[in-house]
This record gives sequence, structure tokens and C-alpha cells, in this order.
Amino acid sequence: MSYIKTQIEQILNNSPYEPEFHQSVIEFLRSLEDFIEINPIYKKENIIQRLTEPDRQIKFKVSWQDDNGNIHVNRGYRVQFNNTLGPYKGGLRFHPTVNMSIMKFLGFEQIFKNSLTDLPIGGAKGGSDFDPKGRSDDEIMRFCQSFMAELSRYIGADIDVPAGDIGVGAREIGYLFGAYKRIRNVYEGVLTGKSLLYGGSFIRKEATGYGLIYILGEMLRSHNIDLENKIVAVSGAGNVALHAALKAQEMNAKVVTMSDSSGWIYDKDGIDLSVIKKIKEEKRLKLSEYIKYRPKSIYKEGKFTWEIPCDIALPCATQNELTLEGAKNLVKNKVVAVAEGANMPTTIDATNLLLDQNILFLPGKAANAGGVATSALEMSQNSMRISWEANDVDKELKRIMTNIFNKISKTAKENGFSENYIMGANICGFKKVADAMIEQGVI
Ligand code: GLU
Repeated sequence: MSYIKTQIEQILNNSPYEPEFHQSVIEFLRSLEDFIEINPIYKKENIIQRLTEPDRQIKFKVSWQDDNGNIHVNRGYRVQFNNTLGPYKGGLRFHPTVNMSIMKFLGFEQIFKNSLTDLPIGGAKGGSDFDPKGRSDDEIMRFCQSFMAELSRYIGADIDVPAGDIGVGAREIGYLFGAYKRIRNVYEGVLTGKSLLYGGSFIRKEATGYGLIYILGEMLRSHNIDLENKIVAVSGAGNVALHAALKAQEMNAKVVTMSDSSGWIYDKDGIDLSVIKKIKEEKRLKLSEYIKYRPKSIYKEGKFTWEIPCDIALPCATQNELTLEGAKNLVKNKVVAVAEGANMPTTIDATNLLLDQNILFLPGKAANAGGVATSALEMSQNSMRISWEANDVDKELKRIMTNIFNKISKTAKENGFSENYIMGANICGFKKVADAMIEQGVI
């Protein structure tokens, strides 16, 4: 058995019942097979085993009381995966599907995503199986306070800096920040994605979606393709989807689909994003409301399977949402490019089909790195106790995304995988962390 296959086997045996973690590790390690063969130092230093075992996996009880006085118990998590390049950094996800497998896969991906940004941040992820849907502001606040009562022992501006993810936005970050400050009696940049009123950074909210379009634009440009007038299919209707759609429209592309957990919409004239903002951000309602404002559009209940013809597909919802069925639809409709706004939204078989068909593919590790990159810029501003202007942060975000594209494209070429940006991102993200680990010794 090859070295990488043995390593994979070992990981599967050591951490059973963690399918999402296995998927991300298998995808990652398989792509590194040749690179590790020609660079035996990584074998000698046992880097694969050292990288795939999290530094720390924290799991804790979160008890809280709802508005009717009922007491609930949820599970809280923080997986501090690797702090070779900087303090642990990564979001918090509040969603009923959260478990240790999801936390580990997200934490693992985060290490290499953060490495690609070239900013001083390690990899981590956390969250809870708490479902914020339908909960009052007071309930959310009590949950966040109880969650932070435990999490506050493990984090700090120079230790571990959480941020948002699915189910955690500025409202939750506010309650979490307030609770941390009260418990620890210290005012520091311990969380990112904060409101602009107290230490947040301009463009952080928009950054993941904007960054996705910036790097997509770079990739298209390098193939002499213009984003203008292209038909774009977006999945999701959260923060990433919304801001990707906004930026795509600003570049004169036409966004025709969006989805949420209940169904999806198709608006052939281009989605009215002010309506999405109103129903999703302000009112927190289902996407089905959209047709009330745009009666000519179509709403369908159930899973979005990418059946609408498009030039560009942007999966921005959640893991494994773009399956083989969806990929077949995209191929049939002659999609030109796919860029992942969410973390691991494309299944392995769907990815393989898209690559076999020579469809340009930007993996999430590179494509959605704009969010965490801007979080790192928020950390810098907090440390300096200053605030940069929106335009300056946006320019820096653009520079970072362009740099990521150039690096992954160069690395892919140098290793004989021209145009395969998954290879480029994985090798490039890995090399920096692995080399730094070797320099820091066996710890
Ligand atoms: N949750 C985001 C991600 O998946 C952002 C993390 C952060 O800003 O720390 O990268």
C-alpha cells in the first residue's frame, strides 16, 4: 500500500464515524500523493499524522432557558486544529447538524485556507448543534452567554479568535463579545465579524462573497473570459450568497437563482437582491416570500439541483450540496466555471466529473478565503487600536484574492497539474504550514 493510502487508513481507523472529516482528509491527502513522494522530508517528519490530529478538541455542555422557562441542553465545540502560522482562527457554526465530524472537517480545511491568505492565522472551528431558527433575540442572547461562559476559558486575542459562520452573524458575535468581556474583564479583539460600532472592520461582512467574485474574476481573466453578461447560479441565501450575488451584479453578471433549506427561486430577469436582504437579513423569513415581491419568478420547494442553465455556478450554502446529479445538470447546460463559496459544497464524485469535463473549478479553500482574510485584517486593526477605511480594506481584500489565485495557479503549473486549482491550493496551502512546522520542531 502506498504511503498516503496507509496514512488515510490510519486516520479512518483512529477517528471512526466522522464521514465529513474523512471526506476532507481523503480529498486533501490524495491530491498530495505525488508531492510527498518527491519531497521525502514530509514523511521523515511524520507531517501527515501531525497535521491530521487536532491540537485540541473541546466539547462542552451549554444549558439555557427559553422564553417560556423551559431548560434546554446543547453541545458546544471548539476544535483548535493547528497554530503553526498564528493564533487559532476560524468561525463558529450554530446549526442542528453540527457534530465533531463537521467541526473537524471545517477546522482541517481552515488550516490550509488560512495558510493561503499569507496572514498570521492558524486553523480552528467551533459551534453548537443549537438551532437559532425561530428563536427570539432574548433566547439567542441567553444561549450565547451560556456558550461563552465555557468557551471563554480557551480563547483570547493571541490564543484563538473565533468569528461567524452559518447561524452566527453580527447579532450573535455581539452577545458573545459582551459575555467574554464581562467574564474575562478584558477588552480585546477576541472575536472578528464585530459590528462597526465597537471594533469591527469595514468590508468584513461582505468579504467572503466579494472575495469569491474577485478570485473568480481573476481566474476568468486568465482564460480570457469576461464575467460581464454571464448567467450566474447561486445556491444559499445567507451572508456569502448575498454578497457574492451583489458583487456579481455590480460586475454586470446576471444572478438568476438562490436557495435556502426549504427551497429555491429562479428569476430569469435577475434576482432583486434588495428583496433578498429584506426577507433574509431583516425579517429572517423563508425564501418562498420572494415571489410575493416578484410574481413572475419561480419558487420550488426542495433541494436545488442546479437544473437552471448557467455559465457560472457558485455553491454558497453548505457542505455536500452540489452532488453528482447537480454536476451532471451543470455539464449538460455547459457551465464554464464553478467556484465554491461554502466549505466543501461539492461532493468528491461531482468534483471529479467537473474536472473530467475541463470545467474551471475553484475550491473553497481558495475561493472563500476572503472572509477569514478580512477577519485577520480586523485583528490587525484591533491590535493597533485603529480603523481603516472601507476602500482600503476592500483594496487589500482584492490584493489578497489576486495573490491567492496567482499562487495556486503557479503551484499547479509547477507540479504538472496546469489549470487544476484544487491541486494548486492543496499543495500551496500544505507546503507553508508543513515547512513552518518543521522549523518549529517536534511539539
Ligand atoms: N467561517 C468563515 C470561514 O469558513 C470565516 C472564519 C473567520 O473569519 O475566522 O472561513
